[in-house]
Amino acid sequence: MQNIDLHNHSRVSDGVLTPSELVVLAADNSVAGVALTDHDDLAGLGEARQAAALQRIGFVAGVEISVTWDGKTLHVVGLGVDETNLALQQGLAQLRQGRHERALKMAGDLARAGVAGAWEGARSHAQHSAILTRTHFARFLVERGMARDVSSVFKRFLVKGKPGYVAHRWAGLAEALAWILGAGGVAVLAHPGRYAMNPREMERLLGEFSDLGGRGIEVSTANHSQEERERFAGLARYYGLLASRGADYHGPGESRCEPGRIPLLPMGLTPVWEDERLRDQLII
Ligand code: AMP
Ligand code: MN
Ligand code: MN
Ligand code: MN
Repeated sequence: MQNIDLHNHSRVSDGVLTPSELVVLAADNSVAGVALTDHDDLAGLGEARQAAALQRIGFVAGVEISVTWDGKTLHVVGLGVDETNLALQQGLAQLRQGRHERALKMAGDLARAGVAGAWEGARSHAQHSAILTRTHFARFLVERGMARDVSSVFKRFLVKGKPGYVAHRWAGLAEALAWILGAGGVAVLAHPGRYAMNPREMERLLGEFSDLGGRGIEVSTANHSQEERERFAGLARYYGLLASRGADYHGPGESRCEPGRIPLLPMGLTPVWEDERLRDQLII
């Protein structure tokens, strides 16, 4: 099986590397095809595509869209999207506006908890003020000495019931899928093992996701244990979903797995890159 990695971040959102640096790292790790999937933003895709052409590896234009479903935050990855599609661009612009408002509230909440200057601090770790994520706030809190590293931050801050947490409404599931499908892309449910859902809720989500035109599910991602890979492989087969594989790489020191260094897909699944909308883009 080819080494294809369809979930990675650059500094356009909350990654550390530039889009070209990310693609070069993927190529160094013998990745045959890579997707850039920044949160709610398409701005890195042109640079990443050029870098992939120079490295002679396949490239898939992607985006990771933040969704609110049944009161929970989910991520849906759009793969093979046309980044010039207006409805997709406008939808993502709305999400970034919401992000901006949330970031101001998060900073206000941290200030009330005694941590001043969080907006400016998070901003200093971001390429652009339009995409301030919890990761940028986490990097600022590490810099302030409030936690040892980014993942430790999420135990004491920025999560429900802790300072810096702000409930937020992202895109609807139907809306996000309409943007992706309208832009010619394939919709993939990201890291399903990360959602706090019981099996019934997960089945309801997968049913709804499929009915709305969702086509794939991440089976192999840095966030999944061996058991989770097996569980979601089973659900992929049951719901007739294609299987995806992505490191969800954010940067050196912050991510467990580099691009291409996650387990291969379990046997007996159809990889999402065999979908006709992606196949052609991965032939170099
Ligand atoms: P946001 O979309 O602004 O809520 O930020 C979500 C991002 O925060 C995710 O994409 C991850 O990169 C990061 N994140 C969330 N939870 C954790 C965690 N427990 N450890 C490390 N990073 C996390
Ligand atoms: Mn992230
Ligand atoms: Mn995600
Ligand atoms: Mn991600």
